Amino acid sequence: MHAADPIVAAMRAPSAEDRATIRHAYDVAERVHGSELRKSGDPYITHPYAIALSLAELGMDRDTIVAGILHDTIEDTPYTADELEREFGPTVRFLVESVTKLSKLKYQGLTRHVESLRRLLVATAADVRVIIIKLADRLHNMETLEHIEERKRKRIADETLEIYVPIAERLGMGYFKSQLQDLAFKVVDPKGYADAERYLTEKRHEMEEQLDEAVKDIKKELAENKIIQFQTEARIKGMASFAVKLKKKHGKVERVYDLCAIRILVPTVEDCYRVLGVVHNTWRPLAGRVKDYIAYPKPNGYQSIHTAVKTPRGLVVEIQIRTHEMHRHSQFGIASHLAYKAGEVQPDRAHAEWIRRTMPNLMKIKPHGAPKWLRDLTDALAETETESFKEALKQDFFAERIFTFTPKNDAIDLPLGATPVDFAYAVHSDLGDSAVGAIVNSKLVPLDTKLKNGDHVEIKTKKGGRPNRKWLEFVKTAGARKHIKSATPRTKR
Ligand code: MN
Repeated sequence: MHAADPIVAAMRAPSAEDRATIRHAYDVAERVHGSELRKSGDPYITHPYAIALSLAELGMDRDTIVAGILHDTIEDTPYTADELEREFGPTVRFLVESVTKLSKLKYQGLTRHVESLRRLLVATAADVRVIIIKLADRLHNMETLEHIEERKRKRIADETLEIYVPIAERLGMGYFKSQLQDLAFKVVDPKGYADAERYLTEKRHEMEEQLDEAVKDIKKELAENKIIQFQTEARIKGMASFAVKLKKKHGKVERVYDLCAIRILVPTVEDCYRVLGVVHNTWRPLAGRVKDYIAYPKPNGYQSIHTAVKTPRGLVVEIQIRTHEMHRHSQFGIASHLAYKAGEVQPDRAHAEWIRRTMPNLMKIKPHGAPKWLRDLTDALAETETESFKEALKQDFFAERIFTFTPKNDAIDLPLGATPVDFAYAVHSDLGDSAVGAIVNSKLVPLDTKLKNGDHVEIKTKKGGRPNRKWLEFVKTAGARKHIKSATPRTKR
């Protein structure tokens, strides 16, 4: 028995070599961190250990886990990058160095903030495993935040909410997003947190009781309808997301429909629709609350059916119905694709087909590269100055997203407010450069029309057409902006 064995045990089908390498990495980390302690008083090794364990649970490959174990060695110990490469190879060196560079920039004011975001994006575009290690690192630091002095605690929590939570959301990693959000929110807005907590504590017992009853009822109904293979999870909303929702609904608790939720996981897409039928036949659904994110996935890849019902005892419950595969994707997003690539998990056929259709670029990428949109965005932002970089991130990366479709039905993911020009450049720079008009849902429209989710867009081109500098006034994406600028150099009048 070795102290690193639980990490190995959490991996899917670890080889003898995996075991030996991970044990060795652990021994190295333990030796070089020496008697160093965490602020909590625990030996330092507890920190890389926790990170490596969650990376293994996420289904990450050996290099990522090893990099997780060694992620603080180059910065904090005498161990050098060359030694690390000699013992664990160039990939682990690259990962550890990338994570190290990111942690050197402390969050202080706008310029630093933008600079650390830029580096984070560049590193992630090169290899998405960097952001996954970084998120696991941040999560453990947030979990042990109480041991940090107050001023620093506030800074770390602010940075978590402003950078890591949106990135986790954007990459579809609900697992990191919701935990980080809850932990940070408590520090950043203690009053909002206390308000939400007070309300929930008062009602919790009653809600739990009613929720349990609802779960029992639906299990019985499903069984009676011959749906045998399913799994249910019931939960009361996390404090942070409840408090955020509560603010959005101006303090009106009765308008928060997803405070209590039951999740039903089934094997196939067909099962999801059958379960929906049973649910609506059991309880009356609230009008206008059914959302089919299976037929129309969210742009970050989220798929599920949502509906809200009122139980006979008056409890409003959100019901989420999805396959196990969709659930995994909603929790781990981009990381779940890495697990497929590593051959550890096989996506079911319907899901693989859906990925092929909606995210063709994801299938084409190098094993650990980022999706095309992220690489394009990073390219476009490489040279941008601080102020406009921040604006571009707000308008593009962190904006709400919509899905639009090409005439061949390929989905193009764009920020809200994007126009046919953004669409054309997202498909191909040549298409953008030669665009002269657009047909949206069979109607000819001006090039500055704001596109809506689900729009079908066809771009009219003219041979030898040139982009118009005026387009800069309405485009939303950094990619379009960059191409228009470079194709239309400012001329002297
Ligand atoms: Mn760390």
